[in-house]
Amino acid sequence: MFKINQTQPWIDNKEANYIKKVVKKTFLTESNETKKFELKIKKFCKSKYSISISNWTVGLFACLKVLNIKKGDEVIVPNLTFIATVNSVLMAGATPVLCDVGKGNFNIDIKKVKRLINAKTKAIIPVHLYGHCCEMDVLKRICKKNKIFLVEDAAQALGATFKNKNLGNIGDMGGFSFYGNKIITTGEGGVILTSKKKYFDEIYQLKNHGRKKKGTFKHEKIGYNFMFTEMQAAIGNIQMNKLNKILRKKKFIFDFYKKNLSDIKNINFMNPIKYNKPVYWFSNIIVKNKNKLKNFLKENNIQTRDIFYPIHKQPCYKNTKLIKNMNNSFPVSEEIYKEGLSLPSGYELKSSELNHIIFMIKKFYGSKKNRN
Ligand SMILES: *Cc1c(COP(=O)(O)O)cnc(C)c1O
Repeated sequence: MFKINQTQPWIDNKEANYIKKVVKKTFLTESNETKKFELKIKKFCKSKYSISISNWTVGLFACLKVLNIKKGDEVIVPNLTFIATVNSVLMAGATPVLCDVGKGNFNIDIKKVKRLINAKTKAIIPVHLYGHCCEMDVLKRICKKNKIFLVEDAAQALGATFKNKNLGNIGDMGGFSFYGNKIITTGEGGVILTSKKKYFDEIYQLKNHGRKKKGTFKHEKIGYNFMFTEMQAAIGNIQMNKLNKILRKKKFIFDFYKKNLSDIKNINFMNPIKYNKPVYWFSNIIVKNKNKLKNFLKENNIQTRDIFYPIHKQPCYKNTKLIKNMNNSFPVSEEIYKEGLSLPSGYELKSSELNHIIFMIKKFYGSKKNRN
């Protein structure tokens, strides 16, 4: 039976054939293919430096380490995000401070951020959720004024811009994830962007067991192994060739939903902030009776996904003292979770499938009992 997936990576013979070529060279740990990948990302984002990393969770951790963020320090994070944003702060030994988000773009609420800053605050990690930009000008100003760092979690936002500048390349550091369901994938993987040579050098040393170059057993610093592989890079290099097509298709999908669902008054969409050109990683809708719609679509073999689960409700953090503000109320995150639904958004969605999804959603709202 046919089924429409919520998302899937666009992988074909191009990746398969190329990885075979790269593997046959037999040098599989980080080398030339990885350099090529880093260069492609750097050029695409017009960043000064780019550096590969095993995955973006440790990428965020590496950024915090290099900024000397440690035990006793506070880092402000949005309460609505994928959990890795928060865990990377814990990994660095610091205290994540939860902040509620705003309705229109699901991103960190500027007014609330200001109130959370104190002498212990060392950084803010804005997350450009679903490819939509946070208020970067305001955040930059807040950070500058308070002498704290800005680290962008642009995991889901490769290709999105604010005032024509690529997200991930606006704060002190930022970066992307290449996990299987992200804009492009390398299986696992990430890239960090920065405009400072010092950060670039220190991240490399940190990810390379604390040494500046391979081939020595003398280590100046305590480091880790967050190196990339040539297999990941091989896939990434082909994926980068597909990036613009992927971004165009994702925008097409979003526009298609928006146009064809505009006459259903129960359905709302996210709104990007001014000067933001988002990427439509997932096409989200905001609906009052989400669970009913979700189940109806599921029964009809259309897979959807809930929005991220608010951090303060995560079972793994229950009763924890490691996170600040756990017992505050986060009405907006809760509302978005309750009403937000990610519709199928994969590159390979066919027109017939998109039409079928629209048909089914209209059928759902056409039935009287679901109208309110
Ligand atoms: C995917 C994701 C991460 C984690 O990236 P990995 O590469 O899977 O470690 C972090 N933050 C956000 C917002 C993400 O979507």
